[in-house]
Formats: sequence, structure tokens, C-alpha cells
Amino acid sequence: MERRINGHTGLLALFGTPVGHSGSPAMYNFSFQHDGLDYAYMAFDVNVEQMPAVFDSIRLFNMRGGNFTMPCKNIAAELVDKLSPAAEIIGACNVFVNDAGVITGHITDGVGFVKNLEVNGVDVKGKKTVVLGAGGAATAIQVQLALDGASEVAIFNIDDEFYSRAESTKEKLAARCPECKVTVEHLEDKEALAAAVNNADIVINATIMGMKPHEDVTLIDKSLFRKDLVVADTVYNPEKTKMILEAEEAGCQAIGGKGMLLYQGVVNYSLFTGKDFPIEEYQKFQA
Ligand code: NAD
Repeated sequence: MERRINGHTGLLALFGTPVGHSGSPAMYNFSFQHDGLDYAYMAFDVNVEQMPAVFDSIRLFNMRGGNFTMPCKNIAAELVDKLSPAAEIIGACNVFVNDAGVITGHITDGVGFVKNLEVNGVDVKGKKTVVLGAGGAATAIQVQLALDGASEVAIFNIDDEFYSRAESTKEKLAARCPECKVTVEHLEDKEALAAAVNNADIVINATIMGMKPHEDVTLIDKSLFRKDLVVADTVYNPEKTKMILEAEEAGCQAIGGKGMLLYQGVVNYSLFTGKDFPIEEYQKFQA
């Protein structure tokens, strides 16, 4: 590393709080070194109030790009110069790229999720989908499914503070992607959920249920699983949730959340460098 960093090295960074646990510096620095790129990636613990100063620093140090995590994703979308279509619809960004002083904000959770389906042989175009959840991950996935040509996105959420976000996503998508039919229903309505799953090609869990410490919970009754249904989870801890295990038992194509995490990084790396992320080498490095 000490030989790699020099007077020309370009800086990228993660901003938010907390950031100490993040795997991003290791992932990107490994890849920059592997690809012989003169960049270094750091993590800076900052809060929302400090974000205007963060943007001054990004410009002052001519940073190439980086990431925003909680709680800074929404304020970041107000401070960038341009937004990707998904980031504009959602009003948040987790990635920025600085092209000759013009800073563009992207949101790549949904792109990473769809890319992971794609590498597993699942094309979302024209597909009827059910998405459980209306939080950060769910909203990004719903928007990306609509942008990528899914024919239906049926959103189910419990009656909590996220429900109104689902209704707002429906309204925004009606204006931006009118060819995609978006519906919002209560997750407590088991009959409506069963009807939607029976009608769907792809069912996605983007809630916190199934994740530790809720690993014994699954929101879809396994009797609804059929062999031609794709069942995907955003949860990656545990790697195979109860829902994924039950979907596998029923003979469905079941896709866990670990790939979504990886492919977000893959997509971000291409945005930063224009290159393909060295997936196999990184997986060996991690093992
Ligand atoms: P969030 O806090 O923004 O949203 C939480 C969601 O869970 C809401 O829709 C909420 O209504 C729902 N929920 C909470 N309690 C529930 C209950 N008892 N029953 C049903 N639904 C309930 O969270 P987020 O950041 O969007 O994360 C959601 C999930 O996505 C998490 O499991 C997280 O691990 C996963 N995630 C995965 C990746 C990845 O790369 N694989 C990335 C981001 C998030």
C-alpha cells in the first residue's frame, strides 16, 4: 500500500455514521490495487449537518467518487449537481461520481438487486412482481423494477410508518413509468397477498423479517410456492432465510440477498472506474 499511494492518487470515500464496520474500503482498495488503478478509498464518520462541508471537501479535493450511507443519503441527493433517474424518483443517493467537477448521485441498491437476478438468469422485463416492504431497500427495488420494464409491482407493507412511503412510490411511478401497474396493499391482508403471489412471476422480501434476530419468521406461507415462481430475498444474514429454504424445498428458483450486496459493489465500481469489478479474485481474497 505504501508504494501504491503517491502524489497523484485519487481519493474516494464513504460518508455517513456509523461507518467503522463497513466492508467498502477493503473491497474497493483490493480492486483498485488488482486493476492497477491509482485510487484510494477511505471511510469518514459524518452526520447530516456536516454534509454541506462534505460537498465542499469533495470539490476541493477533486474526489473521484464514493458512497453515502445512513443517515446522509437524502441530504446528499439535495447537494449533488445531477441525479440518476432512480435517485431522482427516490430522493436519495448512495453513490456519487465526480466527472470534471459535475457530481452525479446514483442509487444502486435496486440496480444491484436486479443485476443479481439477471446473473441468476431472471429477466424482470414484462414480469409480474410482488415486493414485501416499503423501506429503503424495498423502495429502491420497486423503482428499479419499474424502470427496467416489470409489468406489475404489487407492494405489501404492514400498517406502520413505511406504508405511506409505498403509496408515495406508487404515485411517483404512475407519473414516471405509467406502463408498470403499481398497487399497494396491507401485508396483514392474507387473501390479497395470496392472490398477488398466485398471479406473480417473482416474489421479493425486502423487509427486515427473516434477518437475525427474526430468522424464524417468513412472511409468505410456503403453500403458495410453485415451481415456476422465482423467490428472492434481500436478507443476507442468514445467507439462506427460512423463506429461501422453503422456496428451495418447493422447487422454486430461490435467490438470497448476498448477491444483491455484491452486485451493488460491482455496479458502483463500474460507475467509479468504467471497468468490470474483479469478482472472482475478490471472492478468493474474501475467503
Ligand atoms: P428499513 O428500516 O428502511 O425498512 C424496514 C422494512 O421492514 C419496512 O418496510 C417495514 O415495514 C418492514 N417491517 C418491519 N417490521 C416488520 C414486521 N414485523 N413484519 C413485516 N414487515 C416489517 O430497512 P432497509 O434498509 O430497507 O432493509 C430492509 C431489508 O433489506 C433488511 O433485511 C436488510 O438486511 C436488507 N438489505 C439488503 C441489502 C443487500 O445488499 N442484500 C441492502 C440493503 C438492505
